[in-house]
Amino acid sequence: MMHLTEEEMMEQVYGESENATAVERHLAACRECAHNFAELQRDLAALDRVEAPTRDARYGERVWASIAPLLPTYQLEKRRWWSSGWIRGLSVAGRLRVLRRTYLGTEEAAARCECAAKESAGQAANRGGRA
Ligand SMILES: [Zn+2]
Repeated sequence: MMHLTEEEMMEQVYGESENATAVERHLAACRECAHNFAELQRDLAALDRVEAPTRDARYGERVWASIAPLLPTYQLEKRRWWSSGWIRGLSVAGRLRVLRRTYLGTEEAAARCECAAKESAGQAANRGGRA
């Protein structure tokens, strides 16, 4: 004879068993399962009597006090003045300025090169015309 599992007994207690009649028949015929089932019912009944504790104004404080020793300590890093946010912001702005100058510098240089090329082409044409 297969005995009832704890899960089958739990389903029977909560009225969720799909084989309720077969479980009842087994409990009537098997002393071991009947004993375990009665014990389970007693334990579950005891759990139903336990009420959740009410939370007073200091509940959060007590929870933190109880878990604080378990938490790792966090050391604040000593920050240097050059690594603070506004300096980093300035350095980014400075970098952007340098990039802008570099980019505009190459644009201007390219424009100057084109002008110089046109001028030299024009001068060469003039020279050719004069010659
Ligand atoms: Zn049994």
